[in-house]
Amino acid sequence: MALSPSEQVAAALREFAGRIDVFDPLPGAHVAEVQAGGQTVPLRAPVVRALAEALRAYQDPRDRGTCDHCGGPRLDDNFVCADCGRPSGVFGRLLQERASRFDPPAELPD
Ligand SMILES: [Zn+2]
Repeated sequence: MALSPSEQVAAALREFAGRIDVFDPLPGAHVAEVQAGGQTVPLRAPVVRALAEALRAYQDPRDRGTCDHCGGPRLDDNFVCADCGRPSGVFGRLLQERASRFDPPAELPD
């Protein structure tokens, strides 16, 4: 049976805590707890530190930086900004220049 989204969060937190807890032979007290999926996941201090560090270090694979023109964070696969519509960075400008010079073959429909 598939886990609900909340149960997935609880399972991921338990797995993460387990990966950190193995490095501390003398387990300390729980300093925080997270409620998810109808469960309480207790967290010790080393796990809290590691979790906070992991969350801060996470970068979404769709994150391509910020727009050179407006600072917007939403650049598409061609580095065109979803906020101002301009290409960002050298790669974005190169893609736009190449696209503007492209002449489609006559056999392709308009
Ligand atoms: Zn922009």
